[in-house]
Amino acid sequence: MEMIATTCVYCGCGCGLFIHVEDGRAVGVSPNPAHPISRGRLCVKGWLAADFVHHPDRLRAPLIRRGGRMVRSSWEEALTATAERLKEIREEAGPGAVGVLTSAKGTNEENYLFAKLARAGLRTNNVDHVARLCHAPSVAGLGAALGSGAMTNPIRGLLSSDAILVTGSNTTEQHPLVAATILEAQSRGAALIVADPRRTQIASLADHRLAPRLGTDVAWINGLLNLILEGGLADEEFIRERTAGFDALKDSVSKYTPEVVEKISGIPPRDLEAAAAAFGEAPRAAVVYAMGTTQHSNGTENVLALANLVLATGNLGREGTGICPLRGHQNVQGACDMGALPNVYSGYQKVEDPAARGRMEAAWGTDLPPAPGLTAVEMMEAAKEGRLKGLFISGENPMMSYPDRGLVGRALESLEFLAVAEIFPTETTALADVVLPAASFAEKDGTFTSTERRVQRVRRAVPPPGEARPEVEVAAALLRRLGVPAEYASPEEVMAEIASVTPSYGGISYPRLGTAGLSWPCPDPDHPGTEILHKESFPIGRARFFPVDLLAAGSDPEYPLLLTTGRSLFHFHTGSMTRRTPLLDRELPKPAVEMNPEDAAALGVRSGGGVVVESASGSLEVEARTTDSVPPGTVFFPFHFAEAPANLLTAADLDPRSKIPEFKRTPVRIRRLEG
Ligand code: SF4
Repeated sequence: MEMIATTCVYCGCGCGLFIHVEDGRAVGVSPNPAHPISRGRLCVKGWLAADFVHHPDRLRAPLIRRGGRMVRSSWEEALTATAERLKEIREEAGPGAVGVLTSAKGTNEENYLFAKLARAGLRTNNVDHVARLCHAPSVAGLGAALGSGAMTNPIRGLLSSDAILVTGSNTTEQHPLVAATILEAQSRGAALIVADPRRTQIASLADHRLAPRLGTDVAWINGLLNLILEGGLADEEFIRERTAGFDALKDSVSKYTPEVVEKISGIPPRDLEAAAAAFGEAPRAAVVYAMGTTQHSNGTENVLALANLVLATGNLGREGTGICPLRGHQNVQGACDMGALPNVYSGYQKVEDPAARGRMEAAWGTDLPPAPGLTAVEMMEAAKEGRLKGLFISGENPMMSYPDRGLVGRALESLEFLAVAEIFPTETTALADVVLPAASFAEKDGTFTSTERRVQRVRRAVPPPGEARPEVEVAAALLRRLGVPAEYASPEEVMAEIASVTPSYGGISYPRLGTAGLSWPCPDPDHPGTEILHKESFPIGRARFFPVDLLAAGSDPEYPLLLTTGRSLFHFHTGSMTRRTPLLDRELPKPAVEMNPEDAAALGVRSGGGVVVESASGSLEVEARTTDSVPPGTVFFPFHFAEAPANLLTAADLDPRSKIPEFKRTPVRIRRLEG
């Protein structure tokens, strides 16, 4: 049996695994003991990562819509139709009328080429991907405060921490190998502080648990920092030598006394005081956060509040410290790095910067548009209003993953042309004019960049099914049809081009990646990579404090409960892969809305009974499950299930700075389903 070393397709931990191959088929998976994160372990999704690869639902041939039906076509016909329709729309309605959505499940090479397709091929900066829906506030907030939106320290570095604050992260279910490291650190003596309205598994294991009301993060983080400053636990030398704006911050957080914080967030003063002492007194403290922090209409302010905390306590640039945004998809970090964003080229070089634009124009041999394009949710709005008319989607399923499903459906149906490259039929391919069958992670070469900035190899273990192709080939074929030279003999040649135009990837090449990969910045071929950022300086010189405020949490008497959405250990994102993995689907085959028994009793709802959940955006009928892991007044619903899509309830209320929608605090009401 052959064993091909590659990288897990699911979460941002980026575990190394082997795909076992027999007679041209992927028959199993085992962990790579030499890999720095997995170290011989995988979570349940990782162990089953190859189970969907040969599923009979796989898309095997290109499809074109004719007379309302999808019919089989040749690649030649499908690619030519896609390139010509997008070109026609661009010529008739202008470059603002076309766009590209790339995928955080795709490789770096695919994301780079699809961003190039948008910019050099279609002459638009309308390019974005699902990072908009998860860590756009990290890019905006940490970018403004520190000069880089990425995780500052490696996962293994948490083993040297004396205190770890985990907030907005269901770590044991969503980043299980990061959780394993955190719990190992706790067993070595680190204090574990967990802030989450839900009593998740990691919250139940915390030394200090904070249970704030949904949406009150800025208040309790400011309160924590205020106690640390009042207790004389700030790192004055770090503040003096390496930061700017501290006096305004100190003045701003002084309002957040424990009593004020309790009124807003519900956290008792003694809990906040104990957490402040544990974090403030630790010689090395780290912050770990995820979508519970970012997926809010004030997500950037939440991130800025956390950045203020680590800066004021000097917890940056050293082993065991840092601020760690945990990325959801296995390559959401890489998709951002590759410039699959409307305002930057690869390596976060701004499209508005004439020097950066000039370099990319020289490299790609064409003029490029100077103004930032539309974000993902803005593209949906533009499509609904008829301003966006043609869209290419690589591996995303907005019908399930974007907020306000009604709006997304109307938007995609309003398009004059929609092409989708995918591995399985989805709710989004059902609306496409052209569907292109793509290769899965087990069927292609390339790289993924994990949440800790580690660029790692993805290796082809088996051939794609039928006529399916790696999307590097798809993007290159479309570029050529749009008149942009794109002759790449392999993904390795694409990486060579990426390295030539991306300073932080300048030293990345396939022969150097081996088993452990390399962490960027890695500017030249002799550079060993950078595991800890900001050791001596910040990219912006001095880091900056940004005071942020939240002095009241709103309520809506018409919708008295607050819905928070999230994921389960057994499923991933919109479920297109895990729901086709029988052992995972068996563990959680159907959705249920989780309610506190107190709320359920007040509404006459029993566990296992049907309920109607209604928000201002829509409603759905679903089973109720009572559990005291959600507090009274809060309900939880996972978003993996097409038969009960959570985005029927969530609205496209955007954070003004990062344009992320609110997924974690939707006012709802619930009534018992009669019968
Ligand atoms: Fe895959 Fe994440 Fe599980 Fe590791 S922790 S095996 S990367 S899903």
